[in-house]
Amino acid sequence: NEFEDFCLNRDLQMGIYEKGYEKPSPIQEESIPIALAGRDILARAKNGTGKTAAYLIPIIERVKINLNEIQALVIVPTRELALQTSQLCKELGKHIKVQVMVSTGGTNLRDDILRLYNPVHVVVATPGRILDLIERKVAVVKNCGMLVLDEADKLLSMDFKNCLDTIISYLPVKRQIMLFSATFPVTVKEFKERHLSKPYEINL
Ligand code: AMP
Repeated sequence: NEFEDFCLNRDLQMGIYEKGYEKPSPIQEESIPIALAGRDILARAKNGTGKTAAYLIPIIERVKINLNEIQALVIVPTRELALQTSQLCKELGKHIKVQVMVSTGGTNLRDDILRLYNPVHVVVATPGRILDLIERKVAVVKNCGMLVLDEADKLLSMDFKNCLDTIISYLPVKRQIMLFSATFPVTVKEFKERHLSKPYEINL
């Protein structure tokens, strides 16, 4: 139960240590090997458990830096959470030079469009804005094989359900979905039935 046990890229390992993480938290210990193997994950996890790094570390490890395309999409319910999450992704991926973009409502759409002229590997977004960019064909996600829904109970309670279904329809058939939620209301269970394939379930 050390980060070394995951055999991560050395530059990513350095980012993890510089962040001050000494040992994986329980959710990281359980989810990182599963996520690295490409399996779908359904995790019950509250804030403060280290869930964000639990999905960001595998994403950063699996992103191909020399491929200039969106390879991971992280969807969260609020702009605040999107900013925090992208900040952590930039810090952990600092030595890998992973290109991270935040895309949320309440900001100028043109800025997002301009940002997408430059390389982006990971997008952290709220549902409405990223769907808008996908439908305008500005954000291309046909090769985006990793999707995270963080705070899925909130996402699915907020009229985002159709939005999420539509976003998923633009992803490649071979994709990994990682869903993190504090609670499991019926909306999350329905989402699981619709979109997850033999998910590994984590209940801590
Ligand atoms: P989260 O549950 O993702 O919101 O993370 C809660 C806090 O724990 C954040 O400040 C993280 O940077 C921190 N954290 C995450 N993983 C670790 C770890 N393995 N060791 C120490 N702190 C961590």
